[in-house]
Amino acid sequence: MAKRVVFKQDHCKSCGLCISACPKQIIRVQDELNSLGYHPAFVDDNDQQSCISCAICARMCPDAVIEVFR
Ligand code: SF4
Ligand code: SF4
Repeated sequence: MAKRVVFKQDHCKSCGLCISACPKQIIRVQDELNSLGYHPAFVDDNDQQSCISCAICARMCPDAVIEVFR
């Protein structure tokens, strides 16, 4: 299945705004650090089907990390 929400993880500063905003609570942070030295936000493949493509996360993100598909 195609992903509904994709994160440009190397641009994420791990501010957590998207995590707080997601009504489905499916956004988490990676254990690994990105190239900026932050734990980037992501949605696991198993949780993609729970995404409702509301794009609230993308609107919250100050760094334009998130792209949402319908
Ligand atoms: S599009 Fe909506 S449901 Fe999907 S991850 Fe973003 S905030 Fe959550
Ligand atoms: S709002 Fe953007 S910068 Fe902040 S944690 Fe989410 S994806 Fe990363």
